[in-house]
Amino acid sequence: MKRKFVEKIYIDPETVDYPLTQQIIASVSSDILEFIPASKLLWEKSGHVSLGQGKKIILVSRFEGDFLKPCPGTSRDYLCCQYHILNPVMGCPLDCSYCILQTYLNNPFLRVYANLEDMFDQVNDYLGHFPGRLFRIGTGELTDSLALESLVPLSGWLIEYFADRKDVIFEFKTKTDDIDHLLDVEPPPNLVVSWSLNPQKIIQKEEGGTVSLERRIRAAQRVQSKGYKVGFHFDPLLIFPGWEKEYRRLLDMLFSRVSTQGIVWISLGSLRFPPSLKEIIQKRFPSSRLIYEEMIRGLDGKMRYLRPIRLHLYKKIINQIKQVDDKVFCYLCMESPDVWRRSMGFSPQSNAHLDFLFAQSIEKRFQDIQLSPPDSSRYSLIHSSFFLKNK
Ligand code: SF4
Repeated sequence: MKRKFVEKIYIDPETVDYPLTQQIIASVSSDILEFIPASKLLWEKSGHVSLGQGKKIILVSRFEGDFLKPCPGTSRDYLCCQYHILNPVMGCPLDCSYCILQTYLNNPFLRVYANLEDMFDQVNDYLGHFPGRLFRIGTGELTDSLALESLVPLSGWLIEYFADRKDVIFEFKTKTDDIDHLLDVEPPPNLVVSWSLNPQKIIQKEEGGTVSLERRIRAAQRVQSKGYKVGFHFDPLLIFPGWEKEYRRLLDMLFSRVSTQGIVWISLGSLRFPPSLKEIIQKRFPSSRLIYEEMIRGLDGKMRYLRPIRLHLYKKIINQIKQVDDKVFCYLCMESPDVWRRSMGFSPQSNAHLDFLFAQSIEKRFQDIQLSPPDSSRYSLIHSSFFLKNK
């Protein structure tokens, strides 16, 4: 299904010969295409296009910077899982009220970077510097991994490249059910399709353009039946009247339909945002109440719930998950070792140790991913690297 919300696609003429650009041109009506150098468009238009309008406009251009980056863990006081983000797209057509991209990106357009060969060369170079390390990489931080798929068919390129990499677990993270194209290919063992989940009343109120909880879980069921590994992200976890009951129902619904054995990871992160986002939310989403809970400024400068509230949230969710299956790998996103200990019962000793624990869990639980046993003595020395079979 072609997403109706994209109204215009600008193409920088210097990208016309790239295969991705050709695919885009071939799949959309010529009425919405316009060829214009990216620098000209940005100079002339970006100051006049609002965040909401920009979500309907794609700009296809080259990217000269780093496609692959460590996830920006924002403070040494919080544990960061050492995930890496790959950004062939920046900007998201969906419209969550709490989305941090509203303060983060410096122009409103959906930027698609067509020089994929350069991107894969960069990945080769980068990973080549860390022989033996297992990377977790995904495209779902600066966009939704699948929301533009019907117009910008990137998944095929990514699957083809990463399926053969034994040093990467690759993740598509989404709030859509645009998964039909995934059902047409044999699932690579190192690919994870994951969903961010929240109760339906939050989805309806705060996650514009996304699909319902029912559709997300149905999509997860479908990819899991096809043989894909799945993941779930309870992020942001939110406080609202009735939250305990709503999250309990959500988890009951999830675990009655998706097998925990195929869940690679579940993350939990409570609402956090830079103070400057508050004003944007007030302007763009005046009916949203999320920002009016009692909050403090965390050690990373972001606003977040008070610690006892965060602990309460995490404990409730983790207990319920562990009652169903205590082997599912759960982790907290950007929390202190103390919060880890109090809510999870233990804390990784460092970011590298957390990275190592991911690898250890994957190696133990998923025999189809060909890794050698992780060597715990190495993680403090080489950032949780561990050696792959047949190296
Ligand atoms: S899906 Fe993610 S990237 Fe897209 S608007 Fe929502 S929070 Fe932002």
